[in-house]
Amino acid sequence: MGTYPVKAFGTEAADAALKLLEIERRTVKPNDVAIDILFCGVCHSDLHTARNEWHHTVYPNVPGHEIVGRVREVGADVTKFKVGDLAAVGCMVDSCRECEQCKQGSEQYCEKGNIQTYNSPDKHLNKQTFGGYSAAIVVDEDFVLHVPKNLDLAATAPLLCAGVTTWSPLKHWKVGPGQKVGIVGIGGLGHMGVKFAKAMGAHVVVITTSASKVEDAKRLGADEVILSTDESQMAANSNTLHFILDCVSAQHDVNAYLKLLKVDGTLALVGAPEHPLPIAPFSLIPARKNFAGSTIGSIEETQEMLDFCGEHNITSDIELINMQDINTAYDRLLSGQVKYRFVIDMASLKN
Ligand code: NAP
Ligand code: ZN
Ligand code: ZN
Repeated sequence: MGTYPVKAFGTEAADAALKLLEIERRTVKPNDVAIDILFCGVCHSDLHTARNEWHHTVYPNVPGHEIVGRVREVGADVTKFKVGDLAAVGCMVDSCRECEQCKQGSEQYCEKGNIQTYNSPDKHLNKQTFGGYSAAIVVDEDFVLHVPKNLDLAATAPLLCAGVTTWSPLKHWKVGPGQKVGIVGIGGLGHMGVKFAKAMGAHVVVITTSASKVEDAKRLGADEVILSTDESQMAANSNTLHFILDCVSAQHDVNAYLKLLKVDGTLALVGAPEHPLPIAPFSLIPARKNFAGSTIGSIEETQEMLDFCGEHNITSDIELINMQDINTAYDRLLSGQVKYRFVIDMASLKN
């Protein structure tokens, strides 16, 4: 199979800084779309993976799964994209396409494991997949999304992970009018969760550890804000929420948040800290509460979410950075100093 070299940023070890690397991309196959990457969001999963916090990173690792770009070349059988189109790629680039989940359009739950945009086995090149911290990417057209033309492109990139990862569970648990919905952890995912829950008609309650986000959360669409470090505020709000979306990246006491749920309420985890999160039996039993999880979203849901964002003019609140600033950006992400998503301007990779 033909390949060509592409500039990228990645890391060769858990404790090494990200640096300029050269990777290979495949020449287009009949169903492939080759995309010049314009912008790539910086997800906390990139940091977890680069630093091997989930204990399965294969090095070298090139993170990045919030990709927006322009189509440079299409394979002979491609029908959905043409050269010059805007295109986007999220967290998946393939799946088995044969299992029950794939057949019903839930590729993210592929029973054989979906092929992620980075750090998954690449069946074409016999290596790991490499993500969007790179100048270009080649992806099967079935896993490429259309970008609404009216949205700011850089602020659209985070929709490809932070957007769909919050959209999918809010839809699955039928969040809407008449419901009080809590969003815990107002980072890249959480701030999109607030915007979507509000747009779906719910009464939105932000639960944050950051006093500096209390006022801002209202601007994002929150009806109420609970500062979780204030025990009296937490106690005053026990048994009030129908649903909670937990978007926290670090170790935290889930039991404290479960107390906020009403009878039969669900707390769905999308945040994925490194270590187990202990649950006390009596956090669930006395009020028949549910502790659940959710991963990203299907390709169909991702397109539905992007189209919804186009219609309702919804994008992420971002800070644009150069590729060379990624290591400082990771440090700031860890200390919660980003409102609310870093996005890399990929033009900086050419410098
Ligand atoms: P992020 O921007 O760093 O946001 C994480 C937020 O968590 C912070 O802004 C902070 O919000 C809160 N937080 C941090 N430390 C905390 C602590 N010790 N206790 C309580 N809250 C704390 O990260 P992200 O990119 O949104 O990602 C969030 C998590 O979701 C990561 O673990 C990521 O890997 C995971 N993720 C999962 C999926 C999936 O498919 N399930 C997809 C993407 C990402 P406040 O300042 O408001 O407290
Ligand atoms: Zn992500
Ligand atoms: Zn499958």
